[in-house]
Amino acid sequence: MFNYKLGLEFALEQDQNDTLKSYRNQFHIPKDKDGNELIYMTGNSLGLQPKTTKSYINQELEDWANLGVEGHTEGKTPWLPYHEFLAESMAKVVGAKPIEVVVMNTLTANLHFMMVSFYQPTKTRYKILIESDAFPSDKYAVESQLRHHGFDDKEGLILWKPRKNEELLQYEDLETILEKYGKEIALIMIGGVNYYTGQFFDLKRITQLGHEYGCKVGFDCAHGAGNVVLNLHNSGADFAVWCTYKYLNSGPGSLGGCFVHERHAHNKNLNRFTGWWSHNKETRFKMRGEFDQLPGAEGWQLSNPPILSMAAIKASLDIFNEVGIEKLTEKSKKLTGYFEFLLKQLGEHSIRIITPSHPEERGCQLSIQVKNADKSLHIKLTEAGVISDWREPDVIRCAPTPFYNSFEDVYRLVEKLKEILN
Ligand SMILES: *Cc1c(COP(=O)(O)O)cnc(C)c1O
Repeated sequence: MFNYKLGLEFALEQDQNDTLKSYRNQFHIPKDKDGNELIYMTGNSLGLQPKTTKSYINQELEDWANLGVEGHTEGKTPWLPYHEFLAESMAKVVGAKPIEVVVMNTLTANLHFMMVSFYQPTKTRYKILIESDAFPSDKYAVESQLRHHGFDDKEGLILWKPRKNEELLQYEDLETILEKYGKEIALIMIGGVNYYTGQFFDLKRITQLGHEYGCKVGFDCAHGAGNVVLNLHNSGADFAVWCTYKYLNSGPGSLGGCFVHERHAHNKNLNRFTGWWSHNKETRFKMRGEFDQLPGAEGWQLSNPPILSMAAIKASLDIFNEVGIEKLTEKSKKLTGYFEFLLKQLGEHSIRIITPSHPEERGCQLSIQVKNADKSLHIKLTEAGVISDWREPDVIRCAPTPFYNSFEDVYRLVEKLKEILN
């Protein structure tokens, strides 16, 4: 697709011509003890800190110091409606309508709250379908939902598995599973971008398939949000959840995001757990009346949220908004394509890329299987100033993110890998 060339000069030229190059300077890049910038390839695990985050958080600390409880209404960004200031930009990042999106709780907690509403098992339709190599937290969460409803967590779980000697999942196999068990499956819950292989699934295709068989469909987009164009609204999915500390650069353990499709926005009969923050805003502080369900994704909130964490999310979303996810992924495809091009020079006898080669079927992460490697490879890379992620038995995951990784980063990473492998 792009005409890549070998050599450092090409990388430097690409950085020079990169219209997003100034953004790297808007993030704190971790350094080694001699003050040299590290090659940070783990934005898929914990995104780097925008330089603006501190002032966003300080603003809230100051409002709290100066205004006390009045900060709820008098703060520069009043705390009462704070989550509303995030909805529109978050909706843009994941391709949804503002009414479909809310920032609240944390990822796995949100997954459970979504299952309270969208996993409604009956005696004949109670199974849950997930991908076989799902992120452990997702697997544990769905297993516990099965048990919670009195079902066996092995018998009730259906796995969409890769074929023998393959890592990626094939849609034909999902179709076969649904033909066989579709009527028994209550919920399909898939990681929108698989954390291990980096495979970005066709959310719309999976949703349509699932809905054909009467299943509810939800996605964990922890590795998708801020990384790929998700188009959640158009996918038709019933719900989606994600975190904001990976590609969304909002700090360790920061709040999660949640999407509930518009068609459920006004359904007051959906089963759900509620709290005062799911109650009509107009009458919330009358404190005594009957419960009155707030429409939209907001209606799934329980508590008044942690403002300091939301301030970090706002700092990050303001940067995303400035650029837009489309422009960001445009650079991302070029950068990851370059990474792939360089890796291929290392030869198939030493490495194999597990991640799909089609740019539409992946985000920025490449999962690299290294022949005969063990964890010492990862240790050597770390010593060489590369922050990457190791998955047993032999896979390194590297995610050059378009906001703060450069073509030079990618060039130097592959050079170091080459040195170590030789
Ligand atoms: C990162 C990640 C998690 C982590 O869950 P938390 O509740 O935020 O700790 C869960 N699922 C997936 C798919 C992830 O990528």
